[in-house]
Amino acid sequence: MLGLMQDRPLLISSLVEFAALNHGDGEIVSRTVEGPIHRYTYKDCAVRSRQLAKALEKLGVEKSDRLGTLAWNGYRHMEVYYSVSGMGAICHTINPRLFPEQIIYIINHAEDRYIFIDLTFLPLIEKLIDHLPQVEGFIIMTDEANMPETKLSNVYCYENLMATADDDYQWPAFDERTASSLCYTSGTTGNPKGVLFSNRSTILHSYVVCTMDGLGLSTMETILPVVPMFHVNAWGIPYAAAMSGAKIVLPGARMDGEALYELMENEGVTLSAGVPTIWMMLLGYMKENNKKFSTMKRTVIGGSAVPKAMIETFHREYNVNVVHAWGMTEMSPIGTVCNLKKKHESFSLDQKMELSLKQGRSVFGVDMKIVDGAGKELPWDGKAFGNLLVRGPWIASGYFKAEGGSVVDDDDWFDTGDVATIDPDGYMQITDRSKDVIKSGGEWISSIDVENEAVGCAGVAEAAVIAVPHPKWDERPLLLVVREQDTDVTKDEIIDHLRGSIAKWQLPDDVLFVDELPHTATGKILKIKLRAEYKDYILPTVTS
Ligand code: ADP
Repeated sequence: MLGLMQDRPLLISSLVEFAALNHGDGEIVSRTVEGPIHRYTYKDCAVRSRQLAKALEKLGVEKSDRLGTLAWNGYRHMEVYYSVSGMGAICHTINPRLFPEQIIYIINHAEDRYIFIDLTFLPLIEKLIDHLPQVEGFIIMTDEANMPETKLSNVYCYENLMATADDDYQWPAFDERTASSLCYTSGTTGNPKGVLFSNRSTILHSYVVCTMDGLGLSTMETILPVVPMFHVNAWGIPYAAAMSGAKIVLPGARMDGEALYELMENEGVTLSAGVPTIWMMLLGYMKENNKKFSTMKRTVIGGSAVPKAMIETFHREYNVNVVHAWGMTEMSPIGTVCNLKKKHESFSLDQKMELSLKQGRSVFGVDMKIVDGAGKELPWDGKAFGNLLVRGPWIASGYFKAEGGSVVDDDDWFDTGDVATIDPDGYMQITDRSKDVIKSGGEWISSIDVENEAVGCAGVAEAAVIAVPHPKWDERPLLLVVREQDTDVTKDEIIDHLRGSIAKWQLPDDVLFVDELPHTATGKILKIKLRAEYKDYILPTVTS
């Protein structure tokens, strides 16, 4: 027997309309690319989203069409999110940090009909234009006064386009499984692959972002997503903010420490979200200028493992609680969040910070398991580590246009490519990407563990551990270090520091100092490049 509850579809358009009605004066504050701070309300956002949808309809945009965006976090980008997905089309956020060839590839692969562009990215698209024959037009996200000269043809001014329509637009009702947005994973090998989110998956994911054991987003919070809207929809925050009525502060193109700090203080930001490298810059700025936060209480950090030193600095110096989270583009992205349990209340600050090193417990909706090389499930004892598999209603079942073939097994399990432990309380800890672990004499060394400890050594700004071939052990770890400015930390000092916290056989065989480390478009260290560069490096432990 089926229940007798209404089968109303879960649609993205309902988020902005809900916010307009229930949090009509809730604020959306943006640092614009043009310069000034812009502020308006969810009500304004809903009106303009409807207006834009109507204008796009006049332009000939139809359901399932892909519309690209090359844009920072800002109010116009929010409007595009709502109007494009709300009308049943697909908002394809393009990561401008990808290599030009990759950008060309994904625009063509997605078959974007129109592309919304922030002023900053006009030169980028002008360079690529000859390779984008099927794009019908470019919509520059500014007003007439700021419209630049451009060699692009078929250019529209966002505000002028908007002015061609009124806001009397009825959001269509359609199947909640209709695709809503598209985001390509940077992929360290092969071409980027498109993850195609649906209205349903986006709404379910938003609920989780708002739960206390998720990111705890509510109308009481002012959230500043530093994570870009071109990276897994800013971890779903633009949707969840509307669902909860939280004030949202969008940093635009300025992601430097000074600009972020200023916004956080001026707007009373209580909660933020981003990858560790961003926080490194912010903390650096605050230390140099002797600044303190007056309203910031929590910061969600994910995308890469949070170094212990960062957790400690946030807690001890700034009284900010670090919430470690893990996920991936294929997971919309939230999989686990490291919130404490009741029984941890009595923990000392040190114990709590130790627990925060783990990536956290899965949120309801995400099933998780670890398996060995033969696919056998491993125990949740906090020690056994294996390949991490997930499944759930906001986890990909395949890539756009079936690239890469089948990505789940018969029971829907998706292999994350991460290696992890899970403890009896359900806290998962990533020990490595499966391709980054160092396989030394049959034992696995976690590059993340060694990197985390290395970054805690005074004078070390950034660290990467990679496997280098070794005739006896198969592979041994090599540590690459970027020194903090004006410091001369030595190999011996770093090894001494590591000796206290990691087993002797896990110590790097050598430490090399480099000026910088290569990063992926999403801010992760590009290990594949480092491995290629150092593949012939002779470690000092190799005896001829
Ligand atoms: P990309 O486009 O670089 O693949 P994703 O955000 O999809 O970007 O990357 C997902 C991967 O990032 C995860 O599989 C995991 O390896 C890594 N990751 C994400 N969050 C964390 C975290 N908190 N700790 C360690 N690794 C993380």
